[in-house]
Amino acid sequence: MTEAWRPDDEDERSRRGAWGSVKVRVPAKINLRLSVGPLRPDGYHEIGTVYHAIALYDELTAREGDNLTLTMDGEGTGVLALDESNLVIRAARALAAHARVPANARLHLRKQIPLAGGLAGGSADAAAALVACDELWGTGLSRDELAGLAADLGSDVPFLLYGGTAVGTGRGESVSPVLARPTTWHWVVAVADGGLSTPQVYAELDRLRATDAAPPPVGQSDDLLAALRQRDPLVLAAALGNDLQPAALSLRPALADVLDTGVAAGALAGLVSGSGPTCVFLAADGKQAEAVADALADAGVCRDVHLAYGAVPGARLV
Ligand code: ATP
Repeated sequence: MTEAWRPDDEDERSRRGAWGSVKVRVPAKINLRLSVGPLRPDGYHEIGTVYHAIALYDELTAREGDNLTLTMDGEGTGVLALDESNLVIRAARALAAHARVPANARLHLRKQIPLAGGLAGGSADAAAALVACDELWGTGLSRDELAGLAADLGSDVPFLLYGGTAVGTGRGESVSPVLARPTTWHWVVAVADGGLSTPQVYAELDRLRATDAAPPPVGQSDDLLAALRQRDPLVLAAALGNDLQPAALSLRPALADVLDTGVAAGALAGLVSGSGPTCVFLAADGKQAEAVADALADAGVCRDVHLAYGAVPGARLV
């Protein structure tokens, strides 16, 4: 994907703000379709997916500093390590090494995307760090160059640089945009208590599939892409799908109640997001989304509920 995205000098000065700080907002992702193929020799599964960025955001602020530090507030505070293992730090170091600049910045993460929720929050934060540090350090990489670094940080990171709706292939790191007239899709996001480990969910899928004669090939998403072009939520609802859902339900059977509650409240469809345990629901419009969100909150089947529309752009300076 090629995109002219560098701000001009005046924009750059205003975006830096009075205190030399840079702020980047990055969305969560859901998978409108997640088709999982066989396990590859490198330990990853071949996947075919349709990513969709939704308006549930983390925010990363970068300021000049004498070394590289990370602080945070919001989701995961006190649980998420802020050391070299954090994807924000790993992304900043990867950019500094690539551009041959010192990795000096004071980074602050404001987190709304739940940890290990199947919404790719860690990948989103890595994408935000690439964009924020590129701006702070004036390294001037194109979004496609950043995507090259992103792919080494995690399969979902390149998508979160671009956002929108995109087809992902390989292990998900190879993305191409879905060209369809802009449409607002209304989603309800049901956040579970605790997370699910993505590798464990894939391992559970392999276990469930062990009785199959041969691993299935990666499925096609042509019907889903046609549904997006039709811009009819009922048609899209019928085309949504996630091969990881049986594995997530097997590890967390209570998710079935969450899905049933949302659909009984009028959602057109409900599905586990990525590796779960977050569940997402498609609604016909904003009013129906509010009714579904209220029903989920009243039923007490999840920890938190968000309304979120899509598709939205990926990591952007604000
Ligand atoms: P995916 O769907 O991409 O597998 P997920 O949404 O299920 O991801 P994430 O919140 O992205 O889960 O995080 C998975 C793990 O990554 C966390 O449990 C944590 O150990 C690690 N991690 C490292 N940095 C971060 C970060 N900035 N935010 C969240 N998790 C991080």
